Amino acid sequence: MTRLHGAHASALVALVTFWSAAGAAANSTDARPPLPPVSPIAPRPLPLEWVQVPLVFPLVGVSRWSACYNQNRGYYRHSGVDIPAPKMTPIVASMTGRLGFKIYSYWIVGEGQWTGWQVLGTHLNDDTPGTNDGRGGRDFMFAPNLRPGDRVVAGQLIGYVGNSTNATGPHLHFELHGPGGVRNPTPSLRTAQRVSRPVSVVGQAGEPPVPGEVRVDGVPRGYHAGQRVLTVQVVSRRWADGRVMAATRPEQVRLSLPAEVLEELGGVAGLAELARDRVLHLYVPHRNTGAAVVRLAASEYRTKPAAPVQIASTAPVVRPADELRTLVAGSSAPADPAGPPRM
Ligand SMILES: [Zn+2]
Repeated sequence: MTRLHGAHASALVALVTFWSAAGAAANSTDARPPLPPVSPIAPRPLPLEWVQVPLVFPLVGVSRWSACYNQNRGYYRHSGVDIPAPKMTPIVASMTGRLGFKIYSYWIVGEGQWTGWQVLGTHLNDDTPGTNDGRGGRDFMFAPNLRPGDRVVAGQLIGYVGNSTNATGPHLHFELHGPGGVRNPTPSLRTAQRVSRPVSVVGQAGEPPVPGEVRVDGVPRGYHAGQRVLTVQVVSRRWADGRVMAATRPEQVRLSLPAEVLEELGGVAGLAELARDRVLHLYVPHRNTGAAVVRLAASEYRTKPAAPVQIASTAPVVRPADELRTLVAGSSAPADPAGPPRM
């Protein structure tokens, strides 16, 4: 059953809950979700070619990290870098491609200029914010509108940093994989493009609001039939002046549905059929919380991918390991100028 969180939970005891399987067929993705890239678990050194892939830096608002790829950890070598960040720091897609995820982890199989390359991140948040309870649930780990197999664009919100699976502290373990296996992500991260806010594919899609309205884009999380209040998990907001803001934290809003809007959704029965990752564009008066929905549209964003982030360098550059040693004075695991390894 749908899990509800925070302050809204008690207010929604008598609600109609949504079940994700019901609407899945109508909103299915175009292919099977990709399988994750796999790193070797062995004491031998990992590939050390100098590789620079034009990435978007995977975390918003974070710059310090440790170049700990290939670090000797006894029975295995560390297959990525660790980027320390506060819990719930937004994680964005480093490249455009097809998304796979499972509990704690995500991966992207690159498309277009990133064909042949993959990234993987792990230790996503599994806690209720403010606790270490391991019971946070899906909306505190991943962006609410995603499902495995979705196409994501570089810069799009994927989920949130945590310390799941006994991580020593909250951080993103980040891996880069290329043709032939895991690669050192350090050079690519040093030159990665940074975004100050996630790119909003959903927010760019569909009709803009008219002056005096704001459009709340969200996925359904519950409906209180008695009060005719729909609870949505916010994906983005769009204003009449053109501004679009992707959500950067889990947030629920409650919006009342006039009879005619509920009718458009097929009534309570229609609402219950909606997939939990189906985005609704809800046009409300310029006050978000508790407002009545003026009108509504269901997003077709999955079939209309927005343009990806423009990135200066357009092709991955690969140099042999020898050249790496020339560039980084004899070190096979260069220290990062941003600071010493932290974990
Ligand atoms: Zn790690």
